[in-house]
Amino acid sequence: MSGFTGGIQLVYVLAAACFVIGLHLMNSPATARRGNQVSMAGMVIAGVATLILMIHYGTVTATGWIVLISGVLIGSAIGLYTARTVQMTAMPQLVSAFNAVGGGAAALIAIYEYIEAEANAGGVLGTTTVFTLLDVIIGAVTFSGSIIAAGKLQGIIGGQPITFKGGQLLNVALAVVAIGAAAFMLTTASLPALLVVVLASLAFGVMMVLPIGGADMPVVISLLNAFTGTAVAMAGFVIANWALIVAGALVGASGSILTKLMADAMNRSLANIIVGGFGTGDSAVAAAVAADAQVRSIAADDAAIQMAYASKVIIVPGYGLAAAQAQHGVAELAKTLEERGIEVSYAIHPVAGRMPGHMNVLLAEANVPYPQLMEMDEINPEFGRADVALVIGANDVTNPAARRPGNDISGMPILDVDQAKSIIVVKRSMGTGYAGMENELYFDPKTSMYFADAKKAMAELTAAVKTLVG
Ligand code: NDP
Repeated sequence: MSGFTGGIQLVYVLAAACFVIGLHLMNSPATARRGNQVSMAGMVIAGVATLILMIHYGTVTATGWIVLISGVLIGSAIGLYTARTVQMTAMPQLVSAFNAVGGGAAALIAIYEYIEAEANAGGVLGTTTVFTLLDVIIGAVTFSGSIIAAGKLQGIIGGQPITFKGGQLLNVALAVVAIGAAAFMLTTASLPALLVVVLASLAFGVMMVLPIGGADMPVVISLLNAFTGTAVAMAGFVIANWALIVAGALVGASGSILTKLMADAMNRSLANIIVGGFGTGDSAVAAAVAADAQVRSIAADDAAIQMAYASKVIIVPGYGLAAAQAQHGVAELAKTLEERGIEVSYAIHPVAGRMPGHMNVLLAEANVPYPQLMEMDEINPEFGRADVALVIGANDVTNPAARRPGNDISGMPILDVDQAKSIIVVKRSMGTGYAGMENELYFDPKTSMYFADAKKAMAELTAAVKTLVG
């Protein structure tokens, strides 16, 4: 290795250190923003180092530079525009689209390298071929699977599991064809076999995601994110680029851990998520609610009185808070209560909302102080001391049915909202949440339902608390 190349490798190590430190900082909402900035700096360092490498060795033709610069400019403009304009609730499909781009790019690197090597030396046989083929397979599966996942979340493709007779068999057949053709290429360089690997992998990606219910897409997206990282790491081996290997391995590992955490937080196995057809309403089980159980509704004034004369209020945000974009409203209500000397905290369930960290991101947007955001294990013992638990657009994560066996959410850890002295639930109707199950909490004699859009409700409650004296 020349001194120049060695220097570039050192710069790559610096970039990799930025990725690791950045990821570490993302462990807490308080430092997550800085984590993003540090990781971005790592990406810029790696990008610039690669450009210098390319200029030094003159590997890019004049036309190549035009294509490269145009790609960077167009890609950056599209990325910047979408990131700035995307609604928070549409973030999962944006991540999925990014996964598709990442997986597709990684696969294209391998395809290009293979075609080049085939033309020059009759194929890249040897250890690199294994990485090339893994890159093509994983990258192509991620590309097509992520497009279907994004389409389901965006409502372009129906959210229902799309299944047909023989579907599972077709999946197995596609996997066998892709792996078989790849195995053949380990000994014989063949462009037609490469085409078979690409097409079978693309078809497998589509067939893998189509039967999964739209409601399970966030977990699938996290899984596909792990695939993207793995494909990128393989691409790094193919073109001997350490920055790609490290960045890809980090994404692959963190994506896998996140997938496991999400599955655990729902108390479901990955296999159940992939073949379960969950959250589509078909598998819903009625809650254990007595036939004569009553639901009590409450008006803004009475809800305000309960909170204004409490000493401790715990706010439980959920998907409905995000859907209503009520984060600023709830922050304003909390501030008003705190001005009255009331202790306010937020109970954050790990899978509240529709993506990991959804509530943290949402509340950070409204500048809610981080120490007020309390994780489930930390806040659960506190509910017994709370005068009021104010549940806003959260449903499944509060359903006591999870403590009983025999239903879709059995075993899912929940927030112990029912331990509070009084519970106020803000939502628009008696409609179910993600799991399609009735919530027993709403029939608890301590619970009052405030039927309204969360944003409107926050404004009304804040105004009502402000009118109360003392
Ligand atoms: P849920 O989906 O269980 O319930 C949300 C509730 O919000 C609905 O019952 C709805 O009732 C209400 N709502 C919707 N819009 C509004 C509005 N504008 N104003 C007021 N209320 C509204 O949400 P949770 O956050 O409690 O639970 C998340 C669920 O998502 C869990 O089951 C989890 O497993 C699942 N999930 C989470 C993932 C994650 O990473 N966070 C990933 C995959 C799944 P109504 O229509 O009556 O208003």
